[in-house]
Amino acid sequence: MTKTAIVTGGSRGIGRATAIELSKMGMNVAVIYHGNQVKADETVAACKENGVDAIAIRCDVKKKEDVEASVENVRETFGSVDVLVNNAGITKDGLLLRMSEEDFDDVIDTNLKGCFLFSKACSGIMMKQRSGKIINIASIVGIQGNAGQANYAASKAGIIGFTKSLAKELGSRGINVNAVAPGFVETDMTDVLSDKVKEALMSLIPLKRTAKPEDIAHAIAFLASENADYITGQVLTVDGGMCM
Ligand code: NAP
Repeated sequence: MTKTAIVTGGSRGIGRATAIELSKMGMNVAVIYHGNQVKADETVAACKENGVDAIAIRCDVKKKEDVEASVENVRETFGSVDVLVNNAGITKDGLLLRMSEEDFDDVIDTNLKGCFLFSKACSGIMMKQRSGKIINIASIVGIQGNAGQANYAASKAGIIGFTKSLAKELGSRGINVNAVAPGFVETDMTDVLSDKVKEALMSLIPLKRTAKPEDIAHAIAFLASENADYITGQVLTVDGGMCM
């Protein structure tokens, strides 16, 4: 039977590359986006070119009602949820003394709570199926920390603890839960960095290049595949050797 994948933040960047990669594996894809419908529709069209079905769903991952309605929409449309990629994420950088409570909450709610809400909404379906793969997108910043990103680092470290806990809870139900921790990936998120910061980051990468979204999507696709059936609770860094 054709499998179904949900990719949050599938309109752009890593999420888009992931949606396309999963469609190449023959999965139907639900592309979750927040505001960028044009980009989400482009991802859907690219997935369909690979001969699968795909839909775009507008959803704020911070909102429980949105998330539950989106997952129900996917279940009704495709009949199952086999893969969940919790990828939607934002940054609101600033040094601690200048970081507002609002910016702290917004990053935690989008990156970490969004991951909780989608995992909760999908795990019931996966438990009934007695199979499923949940892949959460963390960051090497969640492992190493980063000055000016306390909110973001906390959200990503939280995702790592969340991933390991779910792996222990859901393993007996045939559900694998893993995290991917990217390094420096060329997307809208990193486009805003100054050339000086980009150069400094480049000097820390042994492979001497930044990642394309596809570099991350390949690792996610592996974890979503049967080749990763015996892997759970792991954090796979995909960072050109930046964090070791
Ligand atoms: P991006 O290009 O900025 O795209 C962000 C995606 O998240 C968009 O699809 C956006 O939807 C969606 N999104 C944001 N807030 C949302 C919300 N409240 N509800 C639903 N969707 C929402 O980001 P990216 O660089 O591909 O990053 C993807 C993930 O990888 C993030 O979790 C990020 O933290 C992580 N990561 C990135 C890097 C990097 O170097 N780029 C490194 C490590 C980890 P719209 O298009 O509709 O706005």
